[in-house]
Amino acid sequence: MDRAAVAHGKGTGMDTQTLNGAATETVSTIAPRVLVEKRDGRVVDFDPVNIVVAVKSAFADLDKEVGPQEDDLIRGIANQVEGEIKARYNGPAKIEDIQNLVEHALIEHHLYEVARTYTTYRLNKDIERAKATDINEAVSRLINKDESLVRENANKDSNVYATQRDLLAGAVSKASAFAMLPETVANAHLKGDIHFHDADYSPFTAMSNCSLPDFGDMLRHGFALGNAMMDSPKSIGTAATQITQIIKDIAGDQYGGQTVNRADEMLEEYAKRDYEKNLNMAEAMIPDSTPINVAEDMVRGLKQREPEWLHFENREPLPDDVPFNTEVSELEQLRQVYAKIMTRKAIYDAMQTMEYQINSNRVSNGQTPFVTVGFGLGESWFAREIQRAILLNRIRGLGKDRHTAIFPKLVFTIKHGVNADEGDPNYDMKQLALECSTKRMYPDVVFYDNIVKITGSFKAPMGCRSFLQGWIDPETGEDVEDGRMNLGVVTVNVPRIALESHGDLERFWKLFEERMDVAHQALQFRIMRCKQATPINAPTLFRYGAFGRLGANDNVDQLFRNERATVSLGYIGLYEATAMFFGKDWMRDHGWDPQGKEFALSIVRRMNELCKQWCKEEGYHYSVYSTPAESLTDRFNRMDREKFGEVPGVTDHDFYTNSFHYPVWLQPTPMEKLDYEKDFPYLASGGFINYCEFPCLQANPKALEAVWDYAYNIGIGYLGTNTPIDHCFECGFEGDFEPTEEGFKCPECGNSDPDKCNVTKRTCGYLGNPVQRPMVHGRHEEIAHRVKHMSGETGHVTLDDGTNREWFEETK
Ligand SMILES: [Zn+2]
Repeated sequence: MDRAAVAHGKGTGMDTQTLNGAATETVSTIAPRVLVEKRDGRVVDFDPVNIVVAVKSAFADLDKEVGPQEDDLIRGIANQVEGEIKARYNGPAKIEDIQNLVEHALIEHHLYEVARTYTTYRLNKDIERAKATDINEAVSRLINKDESLVRENANKDSNVYATQRDLLAGAVSKASAFAMLPETVANAHLKGDIHFHDADYSPFTAMSNCSLPDFGDMLRHGFALGNAMMDSPKSIGTAATQITQIIKDIAGDQYGGQTVNRADEMLEEYAKRDYEKNLNMAEAMIPDSTPINVAEDMVRGLKQREPEWLHFENREPLPDDVPFNTEVSELEQLRQVYAKIMTRKAIYDAMQTMEYQINSNRVSNGQTPFVTVGFGLGESWFAREIQRAILLNRIRGLGKDRHTAIFPKLVFTIKHGVNADEGDPNYDMKQLALECSTKRMYPDVVFYDNIVKITGSFKAPMGCRSFLQGWIDPETGEDVEDGRMNLGVVTVNVPRIALESHGDLERFWKLFEERMDVAHQALQFRIMRCKQATPINAPTLFRYGAFGRLGANDNVDQLFRNERATVSLGYIGLYEATAMFFGKDWMRDHGWDPQGKEFALSIVRRMNELCKQWCKEEGYHYSVYSTPAESLTDRFNRMDREKFGEVPGVTDHDFYTNSFHYPVWLQPTPMEKLDYEKDFPYLASGGFINYCEFPCLQANPKALEAVWDYAYNIGIGYLGTNTPIDHCFECGFEGDFEPTEEGFKCPECGNSDPDKCNVTKRTCGYLGNPVQRPMVHGRHEEIAHRVKHMSGETGHVTLDDGTNREWFEETK
């Protein structure tokens, strides 16, 4: 990476934040180094800019203006303090001592109120730090229904007792976590330099994060659950039920999402068992003595039931089935068709059961488990029927009001030669997936070859957008995906580094490396803690096949080390960090500054280099993760606004832009958006997703197909569709509900009653129901600011007089 070139490419928009040299230039060139010992024991270079910034914010808190005279005075104080440190200390000066020196210097210069404000600010920070690790404080915040605690996870319904108990446990775990973590890490988290994710579960417990449990192995070889020994299922219905039971159990053993990888191919063998049973039954129903026309009538009668069994309603019935084998007697062929029709129904029922069970499952922590179902590659008759059933069930919706199911997340795989192009054997399944996406937003799609290029092998994503990395089992030489897991995420607040650099690129990269060191320590701690688990802590994971089949006292590390498990180094706000150096207009509706993008890429590239280096040194697979930041978008932004005020392009929205994404308030076309974003996942293969905002597409699925095909062509790996699918049960409106201050309402009748509408928005990688379960402020603002990337209808309603009213959004 050519950092020098970037360093000289200073742009506009940094004037207000540059410190015009004075303190930095005059002081920082003087040798020898002046060192500071931070509260957590780390020793870093003394930087007078920190004093200047702190004193200036004390001025700002008092509404005192900083003119040229005050500016000189403050810089003088910073230089004076540095001189005193040099005179007094041989080794590093403690931070508390430096603060005392600043206080005295302020008093000497008769700045009494400023001194008082400066001291109070320090004291408040100390109190905040102490509170964060105080369990009593954590519990009382919860009792007082602190919004950030209650709304942190849009997937949890904080009204139910089970969630309340879970939040209580989470608050206690969190307070303990910051006492357990290395002080540097805890401190960096509390300051908002980094985010140690999921502190409500880990490190208090040794739980791991997202995973691809090996459902195939568990179903094939049996497993124990609670007090019951489960045998390999004899039908797809039982297989589906066993899967949901496993999911429920695993949801209590880890804190991230779990994925049923290549579900259609994995479940195929159980559907075959149904077929064999149905063929057996057909032999009994249609004995050899049956006249052909009678047998034909029986099969026709069965086929006529199919639209009702599969809830087809207005949909075209499926064409007549053909037997697997045409070289047998006519009667035998009819028996095969009979068995196919019955098996299709069994598959449909099983997939319906699975969808209802997953959505109605509330696990012990009060939330629906984050489940993803990946499918689409199977080409056999059975795999195709499984794909069809998954999609038809989703299109139909849940319950009498046909609510959009938000679980499991569906991820459909598109591959040339399988289903991507006209003439491919499963092209019809792609069409069904398109219809489903226009009506229910899911499935999201993954493009086979691009996922292999980006992550090193093919597999479905986990949780919101996490991906395992390609891994060859050294013992067998085979590519293994199932049974692997992620050990946790730590995200770095990149805009903060840019803000602290005050527009100086050299300073940015110096702080960047320091921040990466802290994140690295945090991740090392995550790995160390996960290794402390024993197989008896989570039998389903460690003893009965989800991750492996270990003995009760075996070391779990054999499932993590040698790069089998991943850990994730996350980042947020590339747009904002870059805006600090290239001005807020470096990205526009229809374009961006190439040097800006190069700078944004260089941030992720450097993280990627570091991950590779750590991986080589330690044997655990560090990967760069484009953090979804469901509530983090709010937290980091809020903390930085408090600290640095409103900085154009950086803190002037109430949220930070999701990872590498195009800012949501801009209006690129879907193609422009994807062109900008396409290069980032190749450097951040540990987690990524792209999505576009569309108008209503139900009448125009071909428009969506054009975007999917375009994305496949330019190397996109994982793509989601955001399209208006909200429904008002009061007036019948269908389309986009309007954002309000803290929620959403029907644009026709104003309804926002959670019981009388179904509002579905993408909260991050996942869909959510924001009317039923409100989100944190920043995330709500982010959704409210989203604009469409394609002109078109965004909603419609039929009025009492029978006419239609429609809503449109034009793009620029
Ligand atoms: Zn309405």
